[in-house]
Amino acid sequence: MGNCKICDDKLGDAFPIREMMLGTREEFNYAQCTGCGTIQILNIPGNIGNYYPNYYYSFHHKIPALIQLPLFKRIFKDIRIKKKYRQKDTDIFNYLRPIQTLASHKILDIGCGSGKLICEMFNLGFQNVQGTDKFIEAGYDYGYGVKVFKKDLSELKKKSYNLLMMHHVFEHMDNPAEELVKCHRLLKDDGHLIIRIPVVGKAWDIYKTDWIQLDAPRHFFLHTVASMKILAGKAGFVIDNVIYDSTAFQFWGSELYKRDIPFVNENKEYRLPTDYYSTEELDNYEQLASGLNKEQQGDSAIFYLTKRR
Ligand SMILES: [Zn+2]
Repeated sequence: MGNCKICDDKLGDAFPIREMMLGTREEFNYAQCTGCGTIQILNIPGNIGNYYPNYYYSFHHKIPALIQLPLFKRIFKDIRIKKKYRQKDTDIFNYLRPIQTLASHKILDIGCGSGKLICEMFNLGFQNVQGTDKFIEAGYDYGYGVKVFKKDLSELKKKSYNLLMMHHVFEHMDNPAEELVKCHRLLKDDGHLIIRIPVVGKAWDIYKTDWIQLDAPRHFFLHTVASMKILAGKAGFVIDNVIYDSTAFQFWGSELYKRDIPFVNENKEYRLPTDYYSTEELDNYEQLASGLNKEQQGDSAIFYLTKRR
């Protein structure tokens, strides 16, 4: 057996994971590291692009029209944003609350698809938002400086961002250590990097190879806090905070795979939990998830990294 691509410790025995999002049921070998606990794919398929059909991407998500704030509101933009952190508002303010990113800060969303999130953030008052995605056909320019680049991180200007975000992107990267070094280069001193990823937790213990977040072969690494600390440290980051944000999805999604039901239906749409589970069952799953999050055992988390040195 080989060694861990993160910490170089020994990998445990290989086990096959089926491709179940599309439902091809092809098998891919994964193994868990005996040191850092990361579950990883052993061989990345050469045709990995085929496992990302068009409808997988956020390309067709509806992009909101940009609304520029009136001048007097733009002048007080940071004060307005600080107020929004105090409210129980949208998801994005919840993600950003621990680092209190300001409206004037320069933000880059990495792996952003067509840029729906940055457009929404602009409309919430963030004035300096961009995105990049290597896998889109071409870039986008939405006006007001809101742009999506089709670029690798190494092609962007160094020390130019206050905040970088990766929302469920990092687990798809074949060389996470190298991507973190590129992130470090892009950030201003003391800049932040937010990484939202699935993590090895209780759902793995319960469902093993049916755990929906294994998502073979698209997810190359299912990280742990230990593996993230190693990667962060090597790239010149410290992890300030880890917040678990798992949901009922870890239960209802994995239950579907256990019953051999792919995530995408015959019409190439994602299945809805309400078609398979009662409101009571889903409420129960949601409560279980919030309990696991409190115990730091949920199957997804937000890592807050700060650039050091
Ligand atoms: Zn390891």
